[in-house]
Amino acid sequence: ADQNGETLVPTHCCFCGVQCGMYLRVDRAGKVFGVEPRNHDINRMRLCPKGINAYQQVNHPDRLTAPLMRRSRDEELREVSWDEALDFTVSEIRRIQEAHGRDAFGVLGGASLFSEKTYLVGKFARVALKTRHVDYNGRLCMVSAAGANKLAFNIDRAGNPFSDILLTDCLLLAGANVGECFPVLTQYVWGARDRGATLIVIDPRETAVARTADIHVALKSGTDSAFFNAVLNVVIEEGLTDEAYLAAHATGWEEVKACVAHYPPSRAAEICGIPAEQVVQVARAFARAPKAMAFHARGIEHHTQGVENCLSVINLCTATGHIGKPGAGYGTLTGQGNGQGGREHGQKADLLPGGRSILNEEHRRQICEIWGIEESELPAAGTSMMEMVWQMQRREIRGLIGICNNPFVSLPNYAVVKDGYDTTEFHAQFDFFLSETAANAHVVFPVTIWAEDEGVMANSEARVVKHNKAQEPPSGVRTDTWVMCEIARRLGEGDKFTYGGSRDVFDELRRASAGTVIDYSGITYERLEETGGIAWPCPSTDHPGTPRLFEDGTTYHADGRIHMQVVEWHPPADPYDDEHPMSLTTGRTVAHFLSGNQTRRLGALVEQTPRPWAEVHPSHGFRNGEPVRVVTRRGSEVFPALVTEAIRPDTVFIPYHWPVPTAANALTIDALDPRSKIPEYKVCACRIEHAGAI
Ligand code: SF4
Repeated sequence: ADQNGETLVPTHCCFCGVQCGMYLRVDRAGKVFGVEPRNHDINRMRLCPKGINAYQQVNHPDRLTAPLMRRSRDEELREVSWDEALDFTVSEIRRIQEAHGRDAFGVLGGASLFSEKTYLVGKFARVALKTRHVDYNGRLCMVSAAGANKLAFNIDRAGNPFSDILLTDCLLLAGANVGECFPVLTQYVWGARDRGATLIVIDPRETAVARTADIHVALKSGTDSAFFNAVLNVVIEEGLTDEAYLAAHATGWEEVKACVAHYPPSRAAEICGIPAEQVVQVARAFARAPKAMAFHARGIEHHTQGVENCLSVINLCTATGHIGKPGAGYGTLTGQGNGQGGREHGQKADLLPGGRSILNEEHRRQICEIWGIEESELPAAGTSMMEMVWQMQRREIRGLIGICNNPFVSLPNYAVVKDGYDTTEFHAQFDFFLSETAANAHVVFPVTIWAEDEGVMANSEARVVKHNKAQEPPSGVRTDTWVMCEIARRLGEGDKFTYGGSRDVFDELRRASAGTVIDYSGITYERLEETGGIAWPCPSTDHPGTPRLFEDGTTYHADGRIHMQVVEWHPPADPYDDEHPMSLTTGRTVAHFLSGNQTRRLGALVEQTPRPWAEVHPSHGFRNGEPVRVVTRRGSEVFPALVTEAIRPDTVFIPYHWPVPTAANALTIDALDPRSKIPEYKVCACRIEHAGAI
């Protein structure tokens, strides 16, 4: 403590997958009241507007400090005791499961939770509730990249640390609005460019990084794999492939080569709506660079062919030998703070801790041993988040516990989502603010915010970092861990949920991950506090971690090779016609985070960006601020126009952080990638019209 009795608690930002280090300032009464920069090597003192304002949530007047409850949706939510809320919840779980079976109750988790809590979400659902229905909101984030990584490399994480960006000669960003979604990462991008690296940006919009790119390819949304196939076509035609690397480290190359032969630049120009020369420029710049890196984000992942889009980028990196070297490699940028860690330890419908498959007998046996249950007791694989909502509509799932997520804003096709939740007989939600989804629930459990507990997150580099507790929670608030354990105890499963806190859960998580690719067994809280973070796999306490993968060219497949996959482009799910000739695409803005439940309450961020807008090209004849009605097959909404040449004339962009009546996701389509089950947020057919007053 300093002379004023203030202390600085070293921790990390709660928001995006960069996971910038910061200090929280704590006053003599033990309350968080400010933030200070921290010279962590991820961010070197920098924070973006979200990070600077994050602390204001901690003692915000909107914090929930008592459980809320109603027995039917006709009633208002009222404050009740913890006992009353827990008793009602447990009696509803019992009633629904006894009448309709275990799987009639589901759990949806979140990827902003610490990894300890995400581990517990999976165990809570499968051991306490004994249901197969558990999934999480990372399903809306980077599961397409995860699916592609597993197919190509049999490991689900980025290949290189951020610091490699500063070593590269060519940086390709595909569908990654770095300046707004991962703002502090921009220092790496511009650092590389300042050193002379060629910067290539693939994005339908001229974003802040696109404005500074050497090559900006403004392709039509939903055409990424056609573009990357054509780039690879040119690489082959011009003899720029790394045949020695391919021969030593890849399988499937001949099949991929045969496929991309059908994607000459002229075909990409037609499908993507770009000049054919740009395909050639990108191919030459990327393949000729001594070291090149490709990163993508939701722009190419939020599609019904999200996995294939990512695979087409992996094919390009593999064919040019740009994998596993300092300054050369491939990665994806995670949206949520624990987007990476959130899917590693078992809250995803098909996965068990350590990325084990729930379909694999040996994997099931290993986890049952750690959890102390019979193999026959471990449920089968469940369904994805959006599929669970469809099952709620069909009354196959009749009860739900949601843990720190906000599907009323974040899932596509709001009308379907609202109907699904309204159809449930019982819904409980954990949160620290009353989100739109929580406001619709029967029970709301007030839980701790990130600064009131300790735990780990894995950032976009798969670097595990430690968050530290800065203040005691307000009275009436409990940790998510405590609430899950207490429900488990009341369901008669308390002996399997006897944790004193996060550290106990982390120790079990470490044991549960030992021997897998996602090996945390060598990572301890103490080591994280000393080092500033350790990248998995880390199999022993004297292992330094693995910041860069595939350095010796070996992947995690049994044959050690990269499994290249044939990718054929197909059109988006929502067809264009005379009524809906344009593309609607959605995304984020710098001041807000995901569903906005946190950032829409923070004064400076609201002042910076108070409302959403529809970004349209000047050729449509709108004036700035004029009301524009955006119409899709799901409905229509009115937004002020932001008229800019930075968007294609055939495309409209709306940021998605707000609820109805200005919800981008009231317009988007709930079509899913058949492999990853990610929704197609980034393209649907629409038209725009002049509207009356907003
Ligand atoms: Fe937080 Fe991400 Fe901004 Fe860093 S870049 S301060 S982690 S939101």
